Amino acid sequence: AAKDRGKNCYAWFSDEMESELHRRNDFEQGVRSGIPRGEFEPFFEPQVDLATGRLEGFEMLARWRSPTFGLVSPEIFIPIAEESGLISDLSLSVMRQALDAAKSWDHRLTISVNISPAQLKDPWLAQKIVKLLAETGFPAHRLEIEITETSLFENLGLAQSIVASLKNQGIQVSLDDFGTGYSSLAHLRALPFDRIKIDRSFVTSMVETADSAAIVSAIVKLGETLNMPVTAEGIETEEIGQMLVEMGCSKGQGWHFGRPKGILATQKLLVELGHATFADGQGPGDFG
Ligand code: C2E
Ligand code: MG
Ligand code: MG
Ligand code: MG
Repeated sequence: AAKDRGKNCYAWFSDEMESELHRRNDFEQGVRSGIPRGEFEPFFEPQVDLATGRLEGFEMLARWRSPTFGLVSPEIFIPIAEESGLISDLSLSVMRQALDAAKSWDHRLTISVNISPAQLKDPWLAQKIVKLLAETGFPAHRLEIEITETSLFENLGLAQSIVASLKNQGIQVSLDDFGTGYSSLAHLRALPFDRIKIDRSFVTSMVETADSAAIVSAIVKLGETLNMPVTAEGIETEEIGQMLVEMGCSKGQGWHFGRPKGILATQKLLVELGHATFADGQGPGDFG
């Protein structure tokens, strides 16, 4: 492949880079053909009210069950889908399955969906989501859209109009992975977020690193002041959950409360829980 691009490029392509390219092509082909085959599916990670332990809803996380590569992480296939223009189809396919399943769950439960930077460049994004809600019958107020700061960087104007359309429909919008992007504070003012999600890199290190704990506490206070409640991600221990309660953090998720699971396993969990909360009955570890 490098040879086709002329002599000057040739020197830049080592054997390693060649095989990396082939691997990437294989992945891209796999993603492209896997979407219509239904190989992409939603997993669900519990989100709880930290003070009471009550289950509030789930974050939907995409998984690729590839016949060739096995169960593939979104950290690998999302960037490939973005670069090859497949992210919109992939995302809508996974969302459709999630909303179809979740519409019959307890009507208080919310579903949070991640939207990638490439999708925020699509002027029709809000319309596509609204159409999906109409087709699946999932109510707008139970849907939360998660946007990362990085995706606001490229076209803030379009992002603002998409967020305005989503909010007009009653959809909640949250700022994901807060603290890891650029000029965070300006973004909080630029968009009417309903909620802030603290990145797990701060949360997992809260016990060992006083600075992390101080940052998390400051973000929770900032959220209170701006009327944007905070969700903490990456809560792996009871101790961290307790620290967050004391800081006044409203919602949380992480392996302490439960790992992401497929539709059937999630439905089984909901049956087991009944109307109980994560605080009573079996310990949270039983769901991990
Ligand atoms: P994110 O939105 O920050 O999602 C949280 C990630 O942290 C998930 O990884 C989740 O499994 C992981 N996680 C949750 N709790 C814990 C914990 O207690 N400890 C640790 N170590 N990790 C925890 P996952 O599922 O691999 O997703 C990675 C990222 O991929 C997500 O980060 C999200 O940005 C992206 N992603 C996932 N699904 C989709 C999707 O459908 N569309 C788009 N655009 N992006 C997605
Ligand atoms: Mg997220
Ligand atoms: Mg996140
Ligand atoms: Mg994160």
